[in-house]
Amino acid sequence: MKIHEYQGRQLLKDAGVSVPGGRMVESVDDAVAAATELFDGGATLAVIKAQVHAGGRGKAGFVKLVKTVDEAKEAAEFMLTNRMVSVQTGPDGLDVNRLLIAEGVDIDREFYLAITVDRAKNTNTLIASAEGGVEIEAVAESNPDAILKVPMHPIRGLEPFQARELAFNLGFKGKQINQAAGIMLKLADLFRSTDASLAEINPLITTPPCDKHPDGQVLAIDAKFTFDDNALFRHKDIAAMFDPAEENASEIRANEHGLSYVALDGNIGCLVNGAGLAMSTMDIIKLHGGEPANFLDVGGSATEEAVTEAFEIILSDDAVKGVLVNIFGGIMECDKIARAIVGSAKEVGFKVPLVVRLEGTNVAAARTILEDAKSEIPTMVTATDLSDAAKKVCAAV
Ligand code: GDP
Ligand code: MN
Repeated sequence: MKIHEYQGRQLLKDAGVSVPGGRMVESVDDAVAAATELFDGGATLAVIKAQVHAGGRGKAGFVKLVKTVDEAKEAAEFMLTNRMVSVQTGPDGLDVNRLLIAEGVDIDREFYLAITVDRAKNTNTLIASAEGGVEIEAVAESNPDAILKVPMHPIRGLEPFQARELAFNLGFKGKQINQAAGIMLKLADLFRSTDASLAEINPLITTPPCDKHPDGQVLAIDAKFTFDDNALFRHKDIAAMFDPAEENASEIRANEHGLSYVALDGNIGCLVNGAGLAMSTMDIIKLHGGEPANFLDVGGSATEEAVTEAFEIILSDDAVKGVLVNIFGGIMECDKIARAIVGSAKEVGFKVPLVVRLEGTNVAAARTILEDAKSEIPTMVTATDLSDAAKKVCAAV
């Protein structure tokens, strides 16, 4: 599960990381009120930032520095009425419903700091760069040596000496070294205690020296977190940060019914029991020249309710021009599944071709049920095996 920047900033702040103050708003009026409060409070710079679950906002024009309430109003109006298209959103872009109005800061240097799971090394790893900011992807590509990685011990976590060494290697100077190392250690604690899979601050910045802070300050001015869904049950506070507006509606609906569903770009809807079988089904569709419209695992039990819900979700996607049902009856008997398919197909109503392949316990009885239902579900075709099913559905679409 992802959260918004303003929520991530709050987590950082609660963990003791210095973050400039700010407020989330959902309307231009509230944006004006928040900016007025900042400027009346003595701020000379504010930043208006679109709150969406995608990065690349800076380059897309959805992070704007403003010096007056009027400029803040204009930026807020622009962001709340235009879709944001960035390198991370795809061409259709995203609707922006929330903004962060935050105190703007002067920047001396921008760093990149993140913790994520390094699957090749089987460890959580701290990743950092002295060349942080909006070009970090380009840096990783053209100058990978500028990206430093520190593997974290599975039990000891990030150790203070590692954090200090990294802060030093990144070029932090004087009092900034301890500040930066402190932030790394706090981020590591936060990552572990929240069961995060990504905790990223880009940029982590230093401010130029001033009278109040002769060594400058180290501040987090962006925050991105992703959490392990399987651990959310023990983090009610984080689960409560979920914003359904940012997620695919079909995926949310499937989730509520205990189905694993991932929307894809193709036109063949897949209804399968078991994640491995779902993966093989997508593979074999591609092998025969088709493109799957989704990954869908209805789970081991495949009840009539689950199958009906799954059909409805698949058919709610206008791109779907055919459906492949691939069910293996192991513990669950095929005849029960066949009845569920027929019952729900009648209920949902099929206009596109439906190819059904069943295998396993009681498959003979199941085939009879499907055969008998053909007059009621005219677009249904049965298949004898997985290749046959994939060929038939690819040919049909
Ligand atoms: P992202 O592009 O979606 O990652 O959005 P960020 O929050 O990282 O902002 C993008 C860039 O805007 C940063 O790398 C900074 O260069 C700039 N920026 C953001 N906030 C401030 C600020 O308070 N002051 C200044 N001077 N620049 C900022
Ligand atoms: Mn950023």
